[in-house]
Amino acid sequence: MRRLGLVGGMSWETTLIYYRRLHEEAAAAHGPLTPAPLLLDTVDFPALIGLQDQADWTGAADLLGGCARRLEAAGAEAVALCSNTAHLAADGVQEQLDVPLLSIVDAVLEALPAGTRKPLLLGTAYTMQSPLFTRPLEQRGMMPLLPTENDQQWLQDTIFEELAAGIVRPQAQDHLHRMVAASDADCLLLACTELTLFDYPAGRPKVDSLEAHVGQLSRWMLADV
Ligand code: GLU
Repeated sequence: MRRLGLVGGMSWETTLIYYRRLHEEAAAAHGPLTPAPLLLDTVDFPALIGLQDQADWTGAADLLGGCARRLEAAGAEAVALCSNTAHLAADGVQEQLDVPLLSIVDAVLEALPAGTRKPLLLGTAYTMQSPLFTRPLEQRGMMPLLPTENDQQWLQDTIFEELAAGIVRPQAQDHLHRMVAASDADCLLLACTELTLFDYPAGRPKVDSLEAHVGQLSRWMLADV
């Protein structure tokens, strides 16, 4: 197996899920007691949020790059940023590394069901209001849909004030279901790792960015090279 470096802490609630899922994949491939060869570095999340709020993606790349470089120096053969939003700084992080950065955006695009035309893009305000996903989706002939402005604000507040702290309220769950029901999207795109903490109405395909990323990372980690 190849050694993978994770930049986590954004939030640590979902880094835990990455950590557990990657170990499960290693154990499934090589036996129940076999751990995944992981290295973990944790970003100062409040500092990162401050930079994201100012759209300072150069500053974010410096902060995240410091974590990624520590992982590379410690022996990681590839690095992953365990967040969608952080990928707004991904090019600036990759420039600081000699090893590859395994992108959550690529993983999500690969995981979209064939025939998807109108995915509903759900994520932080930074992600929804940037070309991070909308551009590559449009380039592939899709028409990404966004929640209403009020719902975008609701999602941003819910992600940072509740989900990132591990709080999943039934009222928030209901709000999300109403939001999804009001959309005529043919697929739900959960482009925020914390959104994996919610349940989703059955009947519409969904791409969970955390799960898609774990799939990509475990294929890389387990590949026979
Ligand atoms: N984990 C999040 C994401 O996937 C958002 C929190 C953050 O701003 O890093 O976008």
